[in-house]
Amino acid sequence: MAKPSGGHATDIVIAGGGIIGLSLALELRQRGLSVAVLERHRAMSSASWAAGGMLAVNDPQNPLELLPLAILSWALYPSYLDRIELLSGRHVPLRTQWTLQQVQSERVSTDALAAEIAEFAPGLDATGHSFKWLEEGSLDPNDLREALPEALRAAGGMLVEETAVVGVESTAHGVLVETQRERIAAGMFVNCCGAWAGEPRLGGLPVVPVKGQMANLRCPPERLRCVVRVPGIYLIPRGDSRVTIGATLEHVGFDETVQESSIKQMIDAALRLLPEATAPMQVESWAGLRPGTPDGLPILGAAGTKHCWHATGHYRDGILLAPVTARLMAQSMLGEFPDVPLDAFTPARF
Ligand SMILES: Cc1cc2nc3c(=O)[nH]c(=O)nc-3n(C[C@H](O)[C@H](O)[C@H](O)COP(=O)(O)OP(=O)(O)OC[C@H]3O[C@@H](n4cnc5c(N)ncnc54)[C@H](O)[C@@H]3O)c2cc1C
Repeated sequence: MAKPSGGHATDIVIAGGGIIGLSLALELRQRGLSVAVLERHRAMSSASWAAGGMLAVNDPQNPLELLPLAILSWALYPSYLDRIELLSGRHVPLRTQWTLQQVQSERVSTDALAAEIAEFAPGLDATGHSFKWLEEGSLDPNDLREALPEALRAAGGMLVEETAVVGVESTAHGVLVETQRERIAAGMFVNCCGAWAGEPRLGGLPVVPVKGQMANLRCPPERLRCVVRVPGIYLIPRGDSRVTIGATLEHVGFDETVQESSIKQMIDAALRLLPEATAPMQVESWAGLRPGTPDGLPILGAAGTKHCWHATGHYRDGILLAPVTARLMAQSMLGEFPDVPLDAFTPARF
């Protein structure tokens, strides 16, 4: 890596080329800083690719403390996607705009709602379910997988793949980041390593992998035009006959294998809800690891070690929370007041 001014190879080194690391890098580039993202495999090949892509602002399962971040992130999404598109030349569309959310306590299914369900999801078998509408989008992470790395490179950010961070050392004026091949001097270091962010050499955070298995069914696009979420299963139409279904929640360490029995259970649950969907002979299925934390909240802020930061632990909502994470982290790192106070998310709480 070339050494420009100031004795540092770059202002900021970020470990982890998932949606969080790349979005933060893009934000820091926008503020004029030089940034290098080091990714030990290929960018966007872990949780950020495996995800459903729901921007589930009002998911009743989200912790309440997440709401201010979720609302701001949803508001930032249009400009976030516009910027990625402008830089990469690739369109990343919102593929749905509405979610049918199962509600348990209140009974909100009305004739009007039934008519809307008939319009947006005519094949849905709503027997035994009460629903309400949530205005929230979803995207296909495959779209971002292509566009986000290209956007960062077009913005002048450096993305170095197949390069793992194996150590970080604080110095008086910055950090020395160690990879398999070299030591890089930088002003600051950010740990965006997702489910792997808890490695001792990255600061030993209590982040644990929570496995999720997913699959694609088929259904004509006009027959399902909204996300449907009921306990145990969700359906995410992609607008092109794919309907992504998910997801398991498993505490099985760093195991990313797909189990046929789990996929079959999910398919059965999905077909009960949408009987007209079909499972192809060769069902596409995959698994990924969510970065889980003890309190279900992300870890955002300064690490215990000087010039080091963490932006991780986004669990089930990292796609939703990427734009707000990028903004709030950049503000904090540059000594500004973040738009939303980060006290509830500080690494120091552990
Ligand atoms: C099945 C599933 C469904 C999901 N559905 C949704 C959803 O619908 N909506 C939503 O908002 N969120 C969803 N999520 C959660 C979301 O995917 C994650 O919260 C988000 O992707 C986390 O992003 P990340 O960049 O922190 O992690 P990742 O995408 O996992 O990226 C971390 C990267 O760090 C790299 N890395 C690790 N160690 C090192 C090292 N030492 N040096 C260099 N690089 C390293 C890894 O290779 C990896 O590429 C889902 C997750 C899963 C698994």
